[in-house]
Formats: sequence, structure tokens, C-alpha cells
Amino acid sequence: MAHEVLETTCCVVGGGPAGMMLGYLLARRGVQVTVIEKHKDFFRDFRGDTVHPSTLGILGELGLLREFLELPHEEVSSLGVIVGDTKLDVADFSHVPGPCKFVALMPQWDFLNFLADHAKRFPSFRLLMEHEATDLLKRGKRITGVLARNGGREVEVRADLVVGSDGRHAVTRSAAGLEVIEHGVPIDVLWFRISRRPDDPGQVLGNVNYGMGLILINRSDYFQAGLIIAKGSFDRMKARGLDVFRDDIRRIAPYLGSRVEELTEWGQIRILTVQINRLRRWYRQGLLCIGDSAHAMSPAGGVGINLAIQDAVAAANFLAGPLLEGRVSTKTLAAVQRRRELPTRATQSVQLLAHRGLAGVFDNSGPIQAPWQLHVVTHIPGIQRAAGYAVGIGVRPEHVRDEAPSESKVALVAKTAVVALGIATLGMAATATALAWVAWAAWKRGYRGNLETRLG
Ligand SMILES: Cc1cc2nc3c(=O)[nH]c(=O)nc-3n(C[C@H](O)[C@H](O)[C@H](O)COP(=O)(O)OP(=O)(O)OC[C@H]3O[C@@H](n4cnc5c(N)ncnc54)[C@H](O)[C@@H]3O)c2cc1C
Repeated sequence: MAHEVLETTCCVVGGGPAGMMLGYLLARRGVQVTVIEKHKDFFRDFRGDTVHPSTLGILGELGLLREFLELPHEEVSSLGVIVGDTKLDVADFSHVPGPCKFVALMPQWDFLNFLADHAKRFPSFRLLMEHEATDLLKRGKRITGVLARNGGREVEVRADLVVGSDGRHAVTRSAAGLEVIEHGVPIDVLWFRISRRPDDPGQVLGNVNYGMGLILINRSDYFQAGLIIAKGSFDRMKARGLDVFRDDIRRIAPYLGSRVEELTEWGQIRILTVQINRLRRWYRQGLLCIGDSAHAMSPAGGVGINLAIQDAVAAANFLAGPLLEGRVSTKTLAAVQRRRELPTRATQSVQLLAHRGLAGVFDNSGPIQAPWQLHVVTHIPGIQRAAGYAVGIGVRPEHVRDEAPSESKVALVAKTAVVALGIATLGMAATATALAWVAWAAWKRGYRGNLETRLG
């Protein structure tokens, strides 16, 4: 097999939100950076489409915001959920700090292409598409680069530092033998398309009913649909047949009507396995993992992309200087983990709570109604703003810095972050409580229904 050797200062594995943002930020600081991405383009359906206010703020700090907002997108200033037949407002972004008081909905390939196009303007940036990392190069305990496959060629990318941003099935973390802490997840997501009409609801809405949750992401002329199902139930659904599946979708979102007939074979419906896990240690000598590679996120709350981008910003802040000076130590890599571990753990804890709530919904396959408790929670003054902050900004937001944060600056930022952390945690807790309440009420109704059936 043909063999090629490349040299770079930092090799970023994976051109998702974390990898492309890190590539851009390092190149901007003049670091020789090579991003390798296994696919030939960014055009894939199974990516979230949310660009959060915090990410828009970062684009503002980089002077890219105006140009970015010229790309076709939808601006969502609040998020709601339809429980049974009642629409409830959950998150309000209109008061979040920063230049944009909304979540921008844009196909993720447009966002990634935008970052790639801008990164390519820096001479120190290189993007290698269709390069799949298959292993890490090692010298003793140190990671010294990446072995990649490009068609029939083998490419060795030698680097001072490898950053694994290759997502939740990361090769980098497994090749480095980093220990993964798994959290059980009771859900999977079925991913498919249904055409969209101009008079359909435009916002991303979660529909919860009949033991399932349906998310419909507006991609102009079609919806990217994500059906949240109990883990392991897809085979049972298939056994019941496509007609029953279509009826289920129509029951949850009646306005789709006959469009569910567009689903004519199971091949149109892909299962995406959901995971929540995190590495005990995000690094070893010569390697750092960020984004889903360090901590796989569930789609719950639509916050994984935000976290991935924030990791990239923190990593660039800590690493650009040392990379330029050729002195990246494991101490610096540890500092990145220390900085990002708290937001990760806080966010994953809330996602796990939300999953528990959803698991309760699955127990009742009948129609549900929004319980009064949920109405109460969503009407507590300020609760939707807090939820908006939690989803839109998140715990410990990052800002682009042109010098490595000093210990005193880190301490100062940490102090100011405490307030933000409080707001974000409150918001996330409120969202999770609301979900748990839905589950509890659904379970109670289902249980009572079963009891009445048995007694009657
Ligand atoms: C069904 C589903 C829906 C979701 N929806 C949302 C949402 O709406 N909003 C949200 O915020 N979060 C959402 N999430 C979570 C979100 O997708 C992730 O948290 C986020 O994508 C993490 O970004 P990343 O850059 O770390 O990894 P990824 O986005 O997974 O990117 C990894 C990149 O690495 C590449 N790669 C993988 N292996 C290799 C290799 N060996 N060599 C080279 N390249 C490689 C991949 O092709 C990919 O481009 C969802 C998750 C799931 C499962």
C-alpha cells in the first residue's frame, strides 16, 4: 500500500463542530494545524442543526458573525414542547447575554463549510477530507501522530499534539486506551425525513405522546425528524410493520397527515444509538480529546454542539501559545480538562435526569395530557429565561482569548462563572424537573388506566 508521511504541529482528528472550530482558532493564531476528516464532505443528515447564542457570540468575537448570519437560517427565540395536545413554552432565549438572542437553525454542513472556508484563508491551516484515522503513532508512552487511510493510501501524520475530536465512536480515545465511564441510556433515536409545507410549524418542537417523543427540525422543504424511542424497541417496531409506524407518527404529529406515506421502506429510517459517557482522563502525553470524543452527549436539550464548540475554544486558549513555542505539557492538557469537566458533568447529569423522565413516558403507550404540575413549572417567573440560558449559553461559557489564561485570570473568570453556573444549573434543573413531571404524570395515568382495566 502506498505510504505518505506528513508533518504538522497539531493534528486534529475529526471535522465536526469541535474539530473545525479548533482548527480555525489554532490556524488563526498561526499554529500549523491539520484537520483530518473521514468523509468526503460535510453533507450528512445525522447532525444537530443548532447554532447556539454562545457560539454566535464566539463568531462575533472572531468578526465572522455578520457574514455567518447572511447564510440561510431560521432564528428561534423560544423553544416549546407539545405534550399531548397542549403546547408549552420551555425556553426563552430573548434575554441571554451576547449579540444574538436566538438559536440559529442551519444545516450543520453549512456551518462546517463556513468554518472550513474561513480557516483555509490562514496559510497554516490544512484540511484533509477522506482521511480516516485508523490508529495513533506512538513513541514509548507518547502519542506522536496519527495513522490515516485515504482510499488505497496510508498516510502518517506526525504531530507535536493530536487532538481527538472524532465524536462518540472515537478511534483516538480507544487507540490511546483512555478509560471511558459509561452512563446507561434508555433511548435511541430514529432519524428520517418528511416533506415540509410552508404552513407547518417553523420552530423546532418536541411532540410527546403515545409513549414516544418526536422532534421535527425545519430544513426548509423537509423536516429532519428524530423519533425518540425506548432503547432496543426498534426491532419490535419493525415487527409490527411500517403501517403501524406511520400511524404512530401521524398520531403524534397529526398535521403531517398523509405525508407519513412518504416512508415506504425501513431503509429510509436510520437508528442512531444515543450514548452518554465521559473519559476519566481526557489526555495523555501528546493527545487530548475534546467534544463527544471526551464526553458523548445525548440529543436531550440540544446542547452537545454547544459543549463541543466551548471545548474547542477553551483548548485553543490554553494550547495555542505552547504549540507555537513547542512546549505542550501534560499539565496544559490537564488544565483543559479541569476547565471543561464541570460544564460536562453538570450538563450530562441533567441529560440523565431528562432520560429518566423520557423512560417514564415510554411506559405509557396511550395518549397523554400535560399534567398540571408541568403548567405550574413552566409558568414560574423567570424559569423559561433560566432554561434559555442553560440551553443557549450553558455552564461556564468560553470566550476567545489571544493569550493563554493565567492562573489569576482563570480564578477571576471562575468567580464570575459561579453566577452563570447558578443560572444555568437552575435552568437545566427546571427543564429536567418538567420532563420528570411529564413522565410521572404519564406513568400515573397509565398505571391508573391499567388498574381500571383490570378492575373493570
Ligand atoms: C441523534 C442525535 C441528535 C443530536 N442533535 C443535537 C442537536 O440538535 N443539537 C446539539 O447541540 N446536539 C445534538 N446532538 C449531540 C451532538 O451531535 C454532539 O454532541 C456533537 O455533534 C459533538 O460534536 P463533535 O465535534 O465533538 O463530534 P461530531 O459532531 O460527532 O464530529 C466528529 C467528526 O469526526 C469525524 N470522524 C469520526 N471518526 C473519524 C476518524 N476515525 N477519522 C477522521 N474523522 C473521523 C466524523 O465524520 C465527524 O465529522 C445530537 C446527538 C444525536 C445522537
